[in-house]
Amino acid sequence: HTYRIREVETVSTTCPHCGTGCQIDLRVKDNRIVDAVGGDGPVNHGLLCGKGRSGSIDFVHSPDRIRTPLIKNKETGEFEEATWDEALDLVAREFTRLRDTYGPQTLAGFACSRSPNEDIYLTQKFVRTCLRTNNVDNCARVCHSASVAGLAMTLGSGAMTNPIADITGDVDVIMLVGSNPEEAHPVIGMQIRQAVQRGARLVVVDPREIDLCKDADLHLRVRPGTNVAFANGLLHVMIAEDLVDHAFIAERTEGFEAMKDLVADYTPERVGEICHVDPDMLREAARLYAGAEKAPIVYCLGVTEHSSGTEGVMSLSNLALATGKLGRPGCGINPLRGQNNVQGGCDMGAQPGDLPGYQKVAADGVVEKFEQAWGVDLNHEPGIMATDILAMSARGEMKALFSYGEDPVRTDPDTAHVVKAMENLEFFAIIELFMTDTATYADVVLPGLSFAEKTGTFTNTERRVQMVRQAVIPEPGMRPETEVLADLMRRMGYPQPTLTPAQIMDEIASVTPSFGGISHERIEREGGLQWPCPSADHPGTPILHVGSFTRGLGRFFPAEYRPSAETPDADYPFILMTGRMLYHYNNGTMTMRAPGLAEISGSSYIELNVDDAARLGIPDGGRVAVSSRRGRIETTARVGTRVSQGETWMPFHFADGAVNELTNAALDEYARIPEYKVCAVHVEPVGG
Ligand code: SF4
Repeated sequence: HTYRIREVETVSTTCPHCGTGCQIDLRVKDNRIVDAVGGDGPVNHGLLCGKGRSGSIDFVHSPDRIRTPLIKNKETGEFEEATWDEALDLVAREFTRLRDTYGPQTLAGFACSRSPNEDIYLTQKFVRTCLRTNNVDNCARVCHSASVAGLAMTLGSGAMTNPIADITGDVDVIMLVGSNPEEAHPVIGMQIRQAVQRGARLVVVDPREIDLCKDADLHLRVRPGTNVAFANGLLHVMIAEDLVDHAFIAERTEGFEAMKDLVADYTPERVGEICHVDPDMLREAARLYAGAEKAPIVYCLGVTEHSSGTEGVMSLSNLALATGKLGRPGCGINPLRGQNNVQGGCDMGAQPGDLPGYQKVAADGVVEKFEQAWGVDLNHEPGIMATDILAMSARGEMKALFSYGEDPVRTDPDTAHVVKAMENLEFFAIIELFMTDTATYADVVLPGLSFAEKTGTFTNTERRVQMVRQAVIPEPGMRPETEVLADLMRRMGYPQPTLTPAQIMDEIASVTPSFGGISHERIEREGGLQWPCPSADHPGTPILHVGSFTRGLGRFFPAEYRPSAETPDADYPFILMTGRMLYHYNNGTMTMRAPGLAEISGSSYIELNVDDAARLGIPDGGRVAVSSRRGRIETTARVGTRVSQGETWMPFHFADGAVNELTNAALDEYARIPEYKVCAVHVEPVGG
């Protein structure tokens, strides 16, 4: 980019991509972003990855942006431009009609985890006050809902326990489980690598040989879907070799005896067989982790996206509880959240069972409190989770959906099933930046604003609420979603005033104890604040569970290992895993519009093991057909040793060779998270 620094205005804001929450300085000239550079944030200290640098500019000014409301002509099936009045009247009328005809439980709304907290708060308020249902969810359902549930059940708070600087700082051992931060959370990945260079020991638990394995002391190459067995095996060794923290277990936990009974059967030999790992490596990992003074567990979707995802998370809690590695610096259990504001998506109550701040719909007095605050009768029945909403719709039991920015046709498992769910809806309205695959099924599409065009807050993976500042004035006719949602709510009869984002945060603080001391004014003055921050004079909470757990005592949760829902057989002999890569972000609507990123990486591929490829006659770079019980795609082979024999891996960002045509919609019992990380596939050379 060529510009003179004198000619540009610099606006400091928060990166719109991953949950790391890097501060980013946008350089703006003539109402256009001309550059993005690293800002001095508490997480990134001037660092930015390629997504933050290149992926935060072009999509904002893309000619493909949706710029006016669109209504689908029922006869031609084509979208036609409409006024805001026409579009919002239609949305209000149809939701009211369907709610009154079929009942509120046949309506649902998805909030946008890319949008600011203020927008998410208002989205769930719209669903609850106007659709009169708790059927509201966000995309955490398909990434870290298992963390939210699993950590809440064991520790009482479903969030990262320690700050990023703390777990990548002065630590002895980092246990990295099912997480490839150099690709998915690059600035955290860089800091983990630096910590290792300074002398921290690294244990990688991952079926794939990720780049950090080169620096790892141990790489436990567990078979996909065996995390619970792995963790039980480690605990077995810790108990057998008396590496546990007896005082911590006695004073701060409950349920250890039952836990001990359960893991007695998980000998290193048995677990080694289940996980395809050398039993001595399990012993070594247990000793390294348990013996370290400071040892954070850092994990990601390799733990959560399983039909046993919540149990996988709770099994990691068991390890930290047994060794007293919670409530102090350099330790804890640390899920790396995916989207820039997926933490906020959950915090703000875009969950069917939780009002803002994890106040339970089912708990005594909670719904009544919100009825009083919002001045309206609310539904007292907990809502339905997003994955079940889609399943109900596929069965014809869901009538209308409101979606702010979600693209389940591309991002949810088993595309054919999701398409059926979309087609069955009687009415579907969406707010979007671009005409995504999902938006094409909508009856009304409302234009959304990008992060650079509005003000609000994002909450990063370490619970830090940071400012998003407007850098670019939206084009004429475009409106902030907070204004659009308030307008829609009034059209449905709820007297929601149009508030500024700062006023909305004040309302959030007034009804959410953990946000009680958070305001835009304070963040502007002091920098980002980590919740819980209950009062104006509270400094925020960098480390959770100091002295006592949010739920009182930490709870051991004994879980038996269960195989994945679909395992390889003669017809579909390979395991397929899915994941993210450095250059792209989720469905690619933003990063694919950055020419630099699209050139480096523009189409899908499948990683195959070199021995499997040789046996099947597939050369590196050859075209292959990949099929599962749900679909068939064609893609390009990358042959090597990143995956083990019998295992394959694909990124999920690409429209060509879209991997979710293949994935399995099997769901976890507690969090209803789908099993993206394991399904069975058949691979063959194209024409072979
Ligand atoms: Fe943005 Fe994440 Fe990259 Fe930081 S690490 S610049 S938050 S994409």
